[in-house]
Amino acid sequence: MIDTTLTDLLTRLHATYRDLHGGTLASYIPELARSNPDWFAISLVTVDGQVFGVGDVEQLFTIQSISKVFVYGLALEDHGRDYVLGRVGVEPTGDPFNSIIRLDEFSKRPDNPMINAGAIAVTSLIRGADPTDRLNRLLTMFRRYVAHDVFMDASVFTSERTTGHRNRAMAHLMRHFGMIDDPIEAALDLYFQQCSLLVHCRDLAVMAATLANRGTNPLSGEQALNPTYLRDVLSVMYTCGMYNFAGEWAYKVGLPAKSGVSGGIIAVVPGRFGVAVFSPPLDEHGNSVRGIRVFEDLSENLGLHIFGHCTLGT
Ligand code: GLN
Repeated sequence: MIDTTLTDLLTRLHATYRDLHGGTLASYIPELARSNPDWFAISLVTVDGQVFGVGDVEQLFTIQSISKVFVYGLALEDHGRDYVLGRVGVEPTGDPFNSIIRLDEFSKRPDNPMINAGAIAVTSLIRGADPTDRLNRLLTMFRRYVAHDVFMDASVFTSERTTGHRNRAMAHLMRHFGMIDDPIEAALDLYFQQCSLLVHCRDLAVMAATLANRGTNPLSGEQALNPTYLRDVLSVMYTCGMYNFAGEWAYKVGLPAKSGVSGGIIAVVPGRFGVAVFSPPLDEHGNSVRGIRVFEDLSENLGLHIFGHCTLGT
């Protein structure tokens, strides 16, 4: 019985990795240092709308870098592939997420939309009459992915806005090279706002399941992303979604994924399901320590690596 098997598997994974106590809480955004290191949840949502979960699946936290995936999808819908590619590349960097130094030597583009510089450039592309309209378009887009209203954590937003000097510096550098347009402060505010949206682990699994389901939310039946752009979004998740751990992740876990500094990780199993893990302590790459272990185990256990089938039947 698939249901029993999945529930048993998630329960076993939660029990196994609950006692793993490595990693540290992100502290460069002061509000995030207040998280509870023991929070731990695993959620899985299938493309036919079955929901499985274990642990703190309804604990709210800010989405942070996981938002980059979905805002990239909206920018592609707003401008098309070629225009967006002209502004932000799709090359993995091997650098940390907040790396400031790399803009492509010739094009001056940030390397990819999953690092902060690229994500800020992507956010600056979101269409709208004014800042309120742009924020509302983002909120409406996120609502389609989670099938309910989404809200922002005002303290995290303020915390990030007042301490985000590094992100601000990147935006000004890109403005210098003409890769983002004025007003820069409005683009930065929108980026900090998207990072401060509150989700829980089950929301993230529904969002991942929506990507697994050709862009249609399996719970509401609503289309959240034009399927034309699905391959672009999943490709950058696969090559760039786990920062400077992306290569090892692709090798071991083998799924398009994205992590965030609050301790969330999502992964997409196209045509089957979306999975999310939430546990705040992070490793040196900024990825959830328990999250990485859960996904390695889950992928091995269910044979999820996208190239895993290459060895079957030979
Ligand atoms: N808001 C965070 C930042 O810009 C997001 C980083 C992350 O989740 N890795 O620094």
